[in-house]
Amino acid sequence: MSRKKVAVIGGGPGGYIAAIRAAQLGAEVSVIEMDKLGGTCLNIGCIPTKCMLHSAELLEQIRIQGPQIGVDVEGAQINFPQVMANKDKVSSQLVNGIGGLMHANGVSVIYGKASFVAPGELEIEGANGETEPVEADAVILATGSVNATPPIPGVNSTSACLDSTGMLSLTELPKSLVVIGAGVIGLELACAYASFGTKVTVVEAMDHALPMLDREITAVGMRHMKGMGIDIRMGTPVKSIEETTEGARVICEKKNGEEVSFQAEKVLVAVGRKANTEFLKLAAGGIENNKGKIIVDDHMRTNVEGIYAIGDCVEGHAQLAHTASCMGEVAAENIMGIDSVYDESTNPTCVYMEPEAAAVGLREDQLEEGSYKVGKFPMLANGKAIIMNGGEGLVKIIANAETEKILGMHIIGPRATDLIAEGAVAIRMGMTVEQLITTIHSHPTISETVREAALDLQGRTLNM
Ligand code: FAD
Repeated sequence: MSRKKVAVIGGGPGGYIAAIRAAQLGAEVSVIEMDKLGGTCLNIGCIPTKCMLHSAELLEQIRIQGPQIGVDVEGAQINFPQVMANKDKVSSQLVNGIGGLMHANGVSVIYGKASFVAPGELEIEGANGETEPVEADAVILATGSVNATPPIPGVNSTSACLDSTGMLSLTELPKSLVVIGAGVIGLELACAYASFGTKVTVVEAMDHALPMLDREITAVGMRHMKGMGIDIRMGTPVKSIEETTEGARVICEKKNGEEVSFQAEKVLVAVGRKANTEFLKLAAGGIENNKGKIIVDDHMRTNVEGIYAIGDCVEGHAQLAHTASCMGEVAAENIMGIDSVYDESTNPTCVYMEPEAAAVGLREDQLEEGSYKVGKFPMLANGKAIIMNGGEGLVKIIANAETEKILGMHIIGPRATDLIAEGAVAIRMGMTVEQLITTIHSHPTISETVREAALDLQGRTLNM
């Protein structure tokens, strides 16, 4: 019997994982990639930014904690070109690793730009301009996203304005930076550059940042970032941007009509990302979409039979690497005859600001009053957290008021983005607070804060 042919368009964390899963299940798989394997995540997203944040964290620890904990490093300072060289090295190492994974799984990689020519029919345009048809029984669209540009006068004509990709290509550390947008990407880069010594101002049109997080968790993060010297201006929409001799002036108009402006050497425009589907020519393919975002069901099927879509290019889901990868596995399994469903309920949201924040499941504002209980535990009462960051942070667990089934977990503090996996497992397994409490957590670890928050939910914390 001939093997099923699967073509995956895009080699990011959605596409390459989908390709591996389909190959594991016996398909003959090709990945069509127009740039580099690894996509946004490995080349201009998750990995390079986390490399920079690691350098920033280490510097902050040496400077701020060092003298208190007996680590005196005179003149500790950032070597910016080396920070950038290191992130490039790590990215290349991981991108090469994906090449190795493709080879090991028998996936062929074709470099070129794919687009629809008719419903269910795609072609690839190679670097030399020549085209060839995509021959496949099923196709997975995994073309990701690109930075969105807001319609702010001056944003395109001011050379100091950069998007997140531009901020990752700087060769010199800017003395000052205005970040437009207090979202995940804006705040992560604000923290990194502030730690490196750049004077950072964040301007945000909305009255509160990171609406997907619990308000108490966000408040801890905002307080810390202000303590780092980041000037955060909420409710401050940008009206226009002007080029100046020293960089740019960002002019904002508050709701009360008051005008404020900020001068900076560089301006990071971080107002979100849009689906990267322009090249795909969705209309020619008859693929249903909303302003370029592909509409899929929970099996990752589009409206056209045999065509699936995953990751940042689909409508209605968080644009995260692990979301894309999970969707990739689901799509591959459905193509290969396994009934597989994408379940958002255990998908963690992570914000790599300082300190890290993460959440999984439901927030209080998504639940009816009286239907839930909350348990909390401050990092300040945890030995390991005190050792690591002086004890800044909080864990919150939300459970059903009657059954005490865990509905949500919200964490800010050291290693929150690692710790959140415990909440995801708890929700996935339908765990109760009692089951979490009766699970022994090792000492001294930050994970003890999760058990203590569960104990608090039953009014019996032991260490506070
Ligand atoms: P992508 O990674 O964007 O990959 C899509 C690929 O498709 C690209 O390689 C592109 O070249 C290719 N392609 C597009 N069109 C075509 C075509 N027509 N033909 C052929 N190839 C095509 N997420 C996290 O979970 N954690 C983080 O810490 C994190 N940090 C981030 C930091 C930044 C600065 C940014 C910008 C993003 C970050 N993200 C993070 C988001 C994460 O990078 C994305 O959610 C993830 O990369 C989406 O994966 P994807 O496979 O859907 O698309």
